[in-house]
Amino acid sequence: MITRQTFLKLALTAAMLAGVAVPEALAANGDLIGVAMPTKSSQRWIDDGNNIVKLLAAKGYKPDLQYADDDIPNQLAQIENMLTKGAKVLVIASIDGTTLSDVLSKAKDSGVKVIAYDRLIKGTPNVDFYATFDNFQVGVQQASSIVDALGLKDGKGPFNIELFGGSPDDNNAYFFYDGALSVLQPYIDAKKLVVRSGQAGMDKVSTLRWDPATAQARMDNLLSAYYGSAKLDAVLSPYDGISIGIISSLKGVGYGSGSLKMPVVSGQDAELQSVKSIVAGEQYSTIFKDTRELAKVTVAMIDAIESGQQPEVNDTKTYNNGKKVVPSYLLKPVVVTKANWKPVLVDTGYYTLDQLK
Ligand code: BGC
Repeated sequence: MITRQTFLKLALTAAMLAGVAVPEALAANGDLIGVAMPTKSSQRWIDDGNNIVKLLAAKGYKPDLQYADDDIPNQLAQIENMLTKGAKVLVIASIDGTTLSDVLSKAKDSGVKVIAYDRLIKGTPNVDFYATFDNFQVGVQQASSIVDALGLKDGKGPFNIELFGGSPDDNNAYFFYDGALSVLQPYIDAKKLVVRSGQAGMDKVSTLRWDPATAQARMDNLLSAYYGSAKLDAVLSPYDGISIGIISSLKGVGYGSGSLKMPVVSGQDAELQSVKSIVAGEQYSTIFKDTRELAKVTVAMIDAIESGQQPEVNDTKTYNNGKKVVPSYLLKPVVVTKANWKPVLVDTGYYTLDQLK
């Protein structure tokens, strides 16, 4: 007996051979696509979810978008449920990239393809593709913005810096940190950058679940333990939410007013509140990752899978998940500062000027 999937593939191949444009709805055929997102606590994931749903719906798929409130069992249950409902492809931005092996082996058994979205899924062979940004480069850009702002290349310094990392259960956090340290370490070695707390390495500086309050509490402690009389000049922050926590701690002890200059603080995601903070001269930089593009890449992968083609990838070396190197498509991140927020974020239609007021 010929299955519906095989029939569709044959029909598509015949249509393509005959030079007939294949209507997207035929490839999509109302198939259910599970989209598992981690949390609504950050605007980027809301945008990611909405962008994917919009594109999928326009192509005739049935998207099932779920948010898991950063709760691991919740995300597992949502993915199980997507499988029960008959999803054909799963798009997963994991909370903890190491906890999905069992559910993904069920996916594999049912012939369901899995795309790791933005965050690598680890410890399982049952992840087919990875759509993300160049995560090492994100860290390089965060650190380079600090180096530029401090004038380190012009020989200025020494400056005091403290380091923050992302969530230790998110593979990206290590790439961001390693990318950043690839730029900062030579200055630390040359004593042009001084980490007064001595806290370095992801085991010491990570921030579970990327939680702003956790980061704020850690900054409070660092300031009171190491900066009674010394002045802090820069903070490596991996994500805008964490930067918000850090900046509010800094403001709490008077930075950003009078003669106490706000340290140079990096960030990531170009979240609205943080872009406003950049425009206002508080946060120094963020990294713009155009979630519209990530959604496009992901939906193109789904289209390819559904029509029996190979999805386009541009990296087959970097993302070893412990079981395999996951074929990946990496998009380019862009640094945003007070100098370029308008062309990068407004002229491209990501935000309107009104939103940034
Ligand atoms: C994403 C970042 C985001 C962070 C916190 C990471 O996995 O790549 O864009 O800032 O999670 O949500």
